[in-house]
Amino acid sequence: MEVIILCAVLIAAIGILAYNRASLTMFTAAIAVILAVGSAFDAAGTVAWIVFLLVALPLNIAVIRQQYLTKPLLKLYRKIMPEMSTTEKEAIDAGTTWWEADLFRGNPDWHKMHNFPVPRLSAEEQAFLDGPVEELLAMVDDWHTTHERADLTPEVYQYLKEKGFFAMIIKKEYGGLEFSAYAQSCVLQKLTSKSMVLSSVVGVPNSLGPGELLQHYGTDEQKKHYLPRLAKGLEVPCFALTSPEAGSDAGAIPDTGIICKGQWEGQEVIGMRLTWNKRYITLAPIATVLGLAFKLYDPEKLLGETEELGITCALIPVSTPGVKIGRRHFPLNVPFQNGPTQGENIFVPLDYIIGGAKMAGQGWRMLVECLSVGRAITLPSNSTGGIKAVALATGAYARIRRQFRLPIGKMEGVEEAMARIGGYAYMADASTTMSVGSIDLGEKPSVISAITKYHMTERMRQAIIDAMDIHGGKGICMGPNNYLARGYQGAPVAITVEGANILTRNMIIYGQGAIRCHPYVLAELQAAQLDDQGAAVTAFDKALFGHIGFAISNFFRTFWLSLTGGAFSGAPYSDATAKYYRQMNRFSAAMALMSDVAMGTLGGDLKRRERISARLGDILSMLYLTSAVLKRYNDEGRKIDDLPLVQWACEDNLAKAQLALNELFDNFPNRVVGVVLKRVVFPWGRTLRKASDVIEHQVARIMQTPGEARSRLGHHMYLTNEPQNQLGLMEQALLDVLAAEPIFDKVTHAAGKRLPFFRLNEVADLGLELKVITEAEAGILRTAEKGRLFAINVDDFEPEYLAADKTLTQQGPGAVAKDKKDKAA
Ligand SMILES: Cc1cc2nc3c(=O)[nH]c(=O)nc-3n(C[C@H](O)[C@H](O)[C@H](O)COP(=O)(O)OP(=O)(O)OC[C@H]3O[C@@H](n4cnc5c(N)ncnc54)[C@H](O)[C@@H]3O)c2cc1C
Repeated sequence: MEVIILCAVLIAAIGILAYNRASLTMFTAAIAVILAVGSAFDAAGTVAWIVFLLVALPLNIAVIRQQYLTKPLLKLYRKIMPEMSTTEKEAIDAGTTWWEADLFRGNPDWHKMHNFPVPRLSAEEQAFLDGPVEELLAMVDDWHTTHERADLTPEVYQYLKEKGFFAMIIKKEYGGLEFSAYAQSCVLQKLTSKSMVLSSVVGVPNSLGPGELLQHYGTDEQKKHYLPRLAKGLEVPCFALTSPEAGSDAGAIPDTGIICKGQWEGQEVIGMRLTWNKRYITLAPIATVLGLAFKLYDPEKLLGETEELGITCALIPVSTPGVKIGRRHFPLNVPFQNGPTQGENIFVPLDYIIGGAKMAGQGWRMLVECLSVGRAITLPSNSTGGIKAVALATGAYARIRRQFRLPIGKMEGVEEAMARIGGYAYMADASTTMSVGSIDLGEKPSVISAITKYHMTERMRQAIIDAMDIHGGKGICMGPNNYLARGYQGAPVAITVEGANILTRNMIIYGQGAIRCHPYVLAELQAAQLDDQGAAVTAFDKALFGHIGFAISNFFRTFWLSLTGGAFSGAPYSDATAKYYRQMNRFSAAMALMSDVAMGTLGGDLKRRERISARLGDILSMLYLTSAVLKRYNDEGRKIDDLPLVQWACEDNLAKAQLALNELFDNFPNRVVGVVLKRVVFPWGRTLRKASDVIEHQVARIMQTPGEARSRLGHHMYLTNEPQNQLGLMEQALLDVLAAEPIFDKVTHAAGKRLPFFRLNEVADLGLELKVITEAEAGILRTAEKGRLFAINVDDFEPEYLAADKTLTQQGPGAVAKDKKDKAA
């Protein structure tokens, strides 16, 4: 009996110590004390002490441990270590990790998260949003831009240049605006709420491209020449990496630069002969300076001994003879300037390399180092702006549009789709704010930028699909009155650019995350690469035994947190959000455990098992997005009115994390491991559910009811009531219709019949006739009728207006079909 008690105490002690991440010394001391007490009660005999000493001594005496354990393990590790290309190494080294690393490590400190400063706009940034951004938006007519002109007007381009829209990232000393990442995000969100073309055109020069690269790596002359010109809009930049042969696999570009001697401005200099064929390049058709990525070779060894120098970035003025530029692609009816560029054997001096000749071959490093910043700002902000605009417009429409005598937003089926839009809008804003906030704290968040880019663009696509369904034919018939269809058409653009989403989910998020966020994996890899054997063993020993302790701890943490549903784990607040923190504690530990199990059982093969990697990345992403939601709720003062949005977003994310874990177990290559660990992580099965119908109803209500919660959901949107701003007009129509409803009820009550809620002009006349409403109230009904009709009506056109080739429609109906037939014949 004593022995059984001793074993139970030992197991409990090991569990508690592991759960709390105790050190090896602490473990050894605690077990020794328990054995000593056990000996006093005759429960631990000599055998127990021998076993203990045989394990504890070699582990605790560094010389013995390193000689007999670490050395052979290091040898084995070097054999099975995953191979990495230079481009992969550079991608992994680039950027920093932040809060996602805490989530990855199985034991997040919630106080730390809540203490990250809340991003704020400076007075200057706020004035820019209230001034130039509003003015610019008032200048843009989105239908004219997307359908009639297939471009922004020259006046809009001029305004963009003059007011520094292309220079938000450029430092003040060069004449730029030098805005915080948060301010850039707010500007882009607001622009997207009216025009995707506008936000794309503004987003690109402020993202990865010449401006960013020059500021980080440019020579003084390059900075002095280009940055003030970019800031004033005298130069329009683009950045060309993608080729027909190399899209996602951008490191494989076939475009070349050959170092050679040539004539430049009347003198023989060492330069390079460039040949490229690029496509999909945003702003290329109107660019004046082309940022170009190519592979540089030095066959004559004019620069040194290396023949293959590697990817290099240069700035090529498009006026250079031979540069082909100007043709346009047509990206999904969202016709921002985008097109191909070519050049063949164009000789330019080495000074054209960004950073000069010393940066030859450093292009990939430069790109991946800068990518994380732009990727965390532009696409997430554009997508977030899109979702928020869609949430407001759909809320208004669903409240105004009636069928079966009810606003459609009150129908349960519609509420389900609305809740998705509302929940995503809240979460998208929370995640984007948190991610750009990290940049303002000095981070270059490579993993977070991938998470945010992937999930915001996917949520935007889903939100717009839901919005289209809710709007019915109103969303489908295009024209100046349709504020959804371009977003619906254009959603795949954001999905594809800056790391197409399938690749981002399956390779990048966890691929970078596992190595960057794990507390020991990178240290192990680096130790194994050391040439000095002694230093390698010492470093590997530290990382490896830290790693083993970490894995044991995660096992016990996962076991306990799963068994108890995290019930006894720490949450910083004891209100309705406490359960989300606790589930996150649980999933964070499970993520850390499964990550080690996947790396341990699959080794280098994990790189090829993309779907395992994707699901681990999904869990990390859901943890990050949920923490952003909780942080936003706290930062905004824990407003109880917002709680349904918080609940919906947290429950949606956590259910997705649960699904990802479950699929991970069901598909884990080692079946025994999958089955056993599924029991550990889900001892009671899958207990989490997505948000209830009640929460979804509350979210739908928020979206349809003007008030503080709705305004917070749509902050930084362009809501000005002007003729070309559909979103602003919808907001006004919502207010007008809501103001008319009690008056309408008064009239129907007096009339003693149930009138339909339309032809409100006639209702106004009836009310006056019955003398139950005032002239002012009749006016409210008439205004509401105008707003109502604006909200539900769609555009129609003269047939010839729609045809791109007007000459064909002038020949009468059927001419287009006949012309096609003739051409085919
Ligand atoms: C409108 C637009 C604007 C753009 N602007 C620019 C620009 O300014 N400058 C520039 O240089 N480029 C630009 N691009 C290029 C963009 O970055 C690429 O389109 C993108 O990298 C994907 O390349 P791809 O289209 O050739 O797709 P592919 O690389 O052919 O990929 C096809 C599919 O395969 C998936 N895939 C590929 N490899 C993997 C993998 N290992 N695992 C899982 N899935 C994988 C991808 O996710 C994708 O779904 C732009 C593209 C578009 C469409």
